[in-house]
Amino acid sequence: MSKIKIHDKEFTLSIPQEEILNEVKRVAAEINRDYAGKRPLLLGVLNGSFMFVADLMKNLNIECEISFVKLSSYQGTTTTGAIREVLGLAESIAGRDIIIVEDIVDTGLTMQRMLESLGTRQPASVQIASLFLKPARLQVPIDVKYSAFTIPDRFIVGYGLDYDGLGRNLPDVYDVVE
Ligand code: 5GP
Repeated sequence: MSKIKIHDKEFTLSIPQEEILNEVKRVAAEINRDYAGKRPLLLGVLNGSFMFVADLMKNLNIECEISFVKLSSYQGTTTTGAIREVLGLAESIAGRDIIIVEDIVDTGLTMQRMLESLGTRQPASVQIASLFLKPARLQVPIDVKYSAFTIPDRFIVGYGLDYDGLGRNLPDVYDVVE
């Protein structure tokens, strides 16, 4: 189906699943090459990354492990603004090579917070793999080492990404119709 409706908005087909999988395989090949002989710990950022991280991991042929984290939606305010805590990381990451797996880097604020939090736990290295990157929206300099797609500033759903809770189950990615 090339046009769908979620809640009050219309969406049109943007990236079919075959194309997504091709790019995910390309990213996996880069990680296989860069982490040969290592044992990276993938940290999937819930909820949006669950499909990406599953397909990515199926295409890794190096030793690797996975864990999932979430940023709290609670926003306490201080002089420095909103604080979001990284939840779910029970194990030690000291000395580990971490690959954060995210659905989309938009303003970059989520990844900035994640990097700050992980940085205090003495990992050997931290890199970011993001399915999508919207460079026009970046507000902070974030180095996304692995990204499957660079996209313009528009709202997308599907393949794990939602619009107000719905659309995560779509195997393809759709663009909002403004
Ligand atoms: P950032 O902190 O980089 O601004 O935001 C990252 C988060 O915003 C993503 O993990 C995702 O949950 C949400 N987000 C940003 N852009 C989009 C989009 O186009 N579609 C959806 N569904 N979520 C988005």
